[in-house]
Amino acid sequence: MPFLSFTRRMSCALAIGLTFAAPGLAQQDGAHTPPRLILQITVDQLRGDLLDRYARNLGEDGFRRLLNTGVHFTNAHHRHANTETIVGHTTLATGTDPAIHGMVANLWFDRIAGEQVYNVQDADFPLVGAQGVDAKNEIDPTQRAASTDGRSPRNIITSTISDEIALHYGPDAKIFGVSIKDRGAISMAGHAGTAYWFSKSEGRFVTSTFYRDDYPGWVADWIAAGKVASYAGQLWDLSAPADAYLFGGRDDQPWETVAPPWMTDFPGFGSTFPHAWGDIDDRYFTTRLTLSPAGDEITADFAKALIDAEGLGKDSIPDYLSVSFSSTDYVGHLFTPSSLEAEDNLMRLDETLADLLAHVDMRIGLDNTLVVLSSDHGAPEHPGYLATLGIEAGTFDFDRVDTEPGFVRLTAEFGESRDLIRNFSNPYLYLDTEEILARGLDQATVERAVSAELERLPGIAHAIPATALRDGAIPPGRIPEAVLANFHPDRSGDIYVVFEPHWFIADFDGLRVASAHGSPWTYDTHVPIIIAGPGIERARVARRVETVDLAPTIAAILGTKPPSGALGEPLVEALR
Ligand SMILES: [Zn+2]
Repeated sequence: MPFLSFTRRMSCALAIGLTFAAPGLAQQDGAHTPPRLILQITVDQLRGDLLDRYARNLGEDGFRRLLNTGVHFTNAHHRHANTETIVGHTTLATGTDPAIHGMVANLWFDRIAGEQVYNVQDADFPLVGAQGVDAKNEIDPTQRAASTDGRSPRNIITSTISDEIALHYGPDAKIFGVSIKDRGAISMAGHAGTAYWFSKSEGRFVTSTFYRDDYPGWVADWIAAGKVASYAGQLWDLSAPADAYLFGGRDDQPWETVAPPWMTDFPGFGSTFPHAWGDIDDRYFTTRLTLSPAGDEITADFAKALIDAEGLGKDSIPDYLSVSFSSTDYVGHLFTPSSLEAEDNLMRLDETLADLLAHVDMRIGLDNTLVVLSSDHGAPEHPGYLATLGIEAGTFDFDRVDTEPGFVRLTAEFGESRDLIRNFSNPYLYLDTEEILARGLDQATVERAVSAELERLPGIAHAIPATALRDGAIPPGRIPEAVLANFHPDRSGDIYVVFEPHWFIADFDGLRVASAHGSPWTYDTHVPIIIAGPGIERARVARRVETVDLAPTIAAILGTKPPSGALGEPLVEALR
């Protein structure tokens, strides 16, 4: 370890030298020297305030290494309404809204096929040498809903910044995306890169035939090295004494998820520390890894092996690596962002990030690397926690809508109202257009009537009809604009349901979770953006910026085109 620290210090000294030299050189001869590696880090569900809130336990070499050298935008927001994983990731990758990149939700209803579609599912491209989602292992209900194990980025309509790097520099630019979640890897690798994600049923990283027909040797070597198995029989315990944490005295909050029996039966992942991962032959062992800092540690370990084996950053042609960390999201869903688990998870992620940055520094040099870090969405607080402070909150149960007086009225007006609703795939309500036609009704009239009744229900702030979005007839304001930014005519539903602030659907497809993001309110839209690299000066910027700005900023730094649908503006603080 002393050797590593020494190397890191040496590289830092080099970085300082280059920081002064590079801009001067560029001014003299007009030459533009791009970084050798673009490292795009996405931390799933890292709300914009959490790095400050939990700063007390962050070290010098992880997040703080980026904060101390780069630009930290403290008031960055997603501007689309449906703040879910694929929507946020693809927005970061493409610099545009879901209305244009097409990833409007983790799940949408395909009206022609008559079934729900999982965002990156693609039956044409099966997994390479592996089974896919084992439905019983899969805690992630959206992933579980896919009707095929095949995966590809073909539903992403516009180019990504990774695609633009490939287009600009040609086949010598190496492009990769890594994540526990398939959608976290595929969205960022774009169409031109290669994505690897973690299969819980296989206990290893997989890819699909969209990218490759076989695995390179280094993947087998990584599996043989036994990183996953090293957690067998071990415990996720606190990294520091309890009194070092903001939530040190609150490990037993009543609203932390009562885990489903398959998680607690053996040997008790439970709601308090220590959390046990179980034995390697336990069928939920790999699932429990992903619900803890272990998932991110495994992801970073795989990314490090990829950097070495694929030779990233070895020549003057820029390479791109996306690493999307998923544990913060799973821990947030189970325990909420205001929990000892969330706090310790961030502390462990900080160490994981430090390890990854040290590896990049040793192999490529951080002085040759552009690092960008952001998140796909924020996170709400649990109604129970809000209630302790007198803030009103609640959970909404869609099943009881049918018996509401307003819907009984609709039935009297239009005929059986239940039959007019074809599917509710949160946040979209899909009407049965054929049934509406068959009854001689007008689509816009039915949309307006159903929306009006929904808006009367407690917990619903807005129910916005698609006809209003198509006709440009939405009221002014940030929330309707966020719904419009989310509207894709083929994929979006006929009514967008926006819950009141601090209200959410607690039933996550059968699994009760403590916390579920997805709203257009600021706790879900607020994320950090950090940009660090050669020539970039440290700054903390509080003006509001948007996540669509990130990809155009990377393009401006590199000198590539922005992605094909990009709407954001380059962040000038990172261009000095
Ligand atoms: Zn989530």
